[in-house]
Amino acid sequence: MKAAAFNYQKANSVQEVIQLLGRYGDNAKLMAGGQSLLPSLNMRLSNPEILIDLQSVAELKGITKVDQVIRIGAMTTHTEIENSPIIQQHFPILSEVVPHIAHRAIRNLGTWGGSCVYGDPAAEWPACAVALNGVMVIQGAQGERRVLAKDFFLDLYTTALASNEILVATEFNLSSNVTKHYFEELSRRHGDYAVTGIVCQIKLNQEVISHARIVYFSVSSTPVMALGVQESLQGKNIQSLSNTEFLANTIQTAKSEIATLADLTNSAQMKTHLVGVLLERALKHIAHQ
Ligand SMILES: Cc1cc2nc3c(=O)[nH]c(=O)nc-3n(C[C@H](O)[C@H](O)[C@H](O)COP(=O)(O)OP(=O)(O)OC[C@H]3O[C@@H](n4cnc5c(N)ncnc54)[C@H](O)[C@@H]3O)c2cc1C
Repeated sequence: MKAAAFNYQKANSVQEVIQLLGRYGDNAKLMAGGQSLLPSLNMRLSNPEILIDLQSVAELKGITKVDQVIRIGAMTTHTEIENSPIIQQHFPILSEVVPHIAHRAIRNLGTWGGSCVYGDPAAEWPACAVALNGVMVIQGAQGERRVLAKDFFLDLYTTALASNEILVATEFNLSSNVTKHYFEELSRRHGDYAVTGIVCQIKLNQEVISHARIVYFSVSSTPVMALGVQESLQGKNIQSLSNTEFLANTIQTAKSEIATLADLTNSAQMKTHLVGVLLERALKHIAHQ
């Protein structure tokens, strides 16, 4: 099938994008790499009057470090994140995630912002944004507003972004604490969307966990934080994470608090089982890192 006819405009600045969104409202669609948008137009799931191409908006591109803040521009591609020396030094987990996203051609065009705004619950970046406590930087006619990533993903393919706004970047604060990360996803073939995945960030004060973020993806309609697990990790000595009894209790907590939803090929029961499998691997790995 082919997309219905649409107009096309290349924007050169965020200001121009906002003006165009003001003029066309819900009839406009922003286009990043087109990796999800174009298939959805071809399938006639969406029928915008105009596509606003973000490829020439330089201020949306690239990764910077200013003081203790790492900023990923919305138009930064998956491949650029993988290869960024800043990311490799400060959040190597993000570079490690990239090979799990689709295939090279898609990674060369697909963007951080496109993935976050699309809000696919099986995508890696939304879960990473929540686990690393990212701040979504949004620009609209009224100026800039900032939304914590944990409050940005509202439902299936639905975010806190209004139709007259653009996601400009995501910012991450660097911590002075020793920080440990873990990422794993289970998928049928490498590069496929995950059946279930986990992203963890653990901050330590000496050997004691001062802050834990445990986030699952591809289990529900958004990334899901395991709040009970996070609470049970708080204040624990890192070595105790691999204690058999503690592990069993924590896995039980995760399985009972994550309300998994079936997808087209995997049952909710299977995802609940994988929630436990991934948590056990994550905690054992972090304890011995
Ligand atoms: C075959 C295939 C396999 C894939 N496998 C995976 C996978 O395993 N894991 C994974 O995470 N992803 C996967 N993807 C998704 C892909 O990695 C892209 O991240 C995703 O499609 C978004 O693409 P894009 O950046 O080109 O955004 P687009 O497709 O251009 O846009 C996506 C949506 O976001 C909106 N948008 C884009 N940028 C902005 C912005 N800055 N502000 C506001 N709105 C914006 C657009 O209007 C559109 O609604 C796959 C895609 C394909 C086609």
